[in-house]
Amino acid sequence: MFERLLGQESIKRTLSEAVNTGRYGHAYVFCGPDGIGRKSFARELSRGVMCTGPDGTEKPCGNCPSCRFIAAGTNPDFKLISGDENRASIGVEYIRRLEEDIATAPTVSAKKVYVIDRSEKLTVEAQNALLKTIEEPPEYVMLILICSNPSMLIDTVRSRVIRLDFARYSREDVLAAYRMAGEASGITAEDEDFIVSYADGIIGRGLLFKDFGLYGKLRERIFDVLSMLGSGKGKAGTFYMEFIALFTDKDNLPYKDFLFFELTAIVRDVMIFARTGSTQALQNRQFGNKIEELAKITGRHGWEKIVDAVTRAYPLTVQNVNQRMIAANLAAQIIDAAGVS
Ligand SMILES: [Zn+2]
Repeated sequence: MFERLLGQESIKRTLSEAVNTGRYGHAYVFCGPDGIGRKSFARELSRGVMCTGPDGTEKPCGNCPSCRFIAAGTNPDFKLISGDENRASIGVEYIRRLEEDIATAPTVSAKKVYVIDRSEKLTVEAQNALLKTIEEPPEYVMLILICSNPSMLIDTVRSRVIRLDFARYSREDVLAAYRMAGEASGITAEDEDFIVSYADGIIGRGLLFKDFGLYGKLRERIFDVLSMLGSGKGKAGTFYMEFIALFTDKDNLPYKDFLFFELTAIVRDVMIFARTGSTQALQNRQFGNKIEELAKITGRHGWEKIVDAVTRAYPLTVQNVNQRMIAANLAAQIIDAAGVS
């Protein structure tokens, strides 16, 4: 069990033992950031508890109907409930529908497993509705809540589920995952450093880097848009429009996280250059010339304010705040801090 998944050794031990002794909880919450692997582990735990292989064999057996249906993605007893990614909350109607489904026994497996993704979005009403199932589930049911912010779960839910916290991965694991995904051919040591720094211990984030050409173009575009602050008549207006477009264009939307990450790194570099006048300590040293040019737009205090504004806006992008509004507010703050018009 779990042989195909990297790291998280203590979670693997806990869950493997639970499955192979048959002593597992009926409700878990898997906590950690998006991309850390919680859903992959939930799927693997499901394979184990749903397996109908003969007693005494290691589970999941890989051969029973349950295992084979899961491998094909068609096991009716395994449900991943994702809700709508763009909706701010998961309401009580989801849980009502879930309860109807829970009331019917499994058809091919030993158990039914329900994985509720983004459970931090469950409304309080929805969590209260779910509580009944968590307290007195049919014996064939296991619930796994996937959660990136456990403080959003009500106390009564939290106290009745087994919580497992997923740890960040090492540099070696992040790069190993990248190689396993077959993405590593032709990447340089510099690319590796970038993957590791962007991944921040989260394998799923590291795997986003499949096309270095594309990321190079997006980075170029950030430099271009920032440089609009320093040139021409009506530059504030041009910058404002282009900055919003950068973050809301349909083509760029899937990369908004990268765009913010890179914007933060660039404005920090400009601030450091404005303070020290040297390119030595910069993260993007290879773009020293561009950073030097940007530093001329305003003084170090202006750049400190810009860094501050970008740093405060970044966490909003992962919450359910309108992206256009974030970009527009931030553009206005940057114009203000740079003192351009
Ligand atoms: Zn099996």
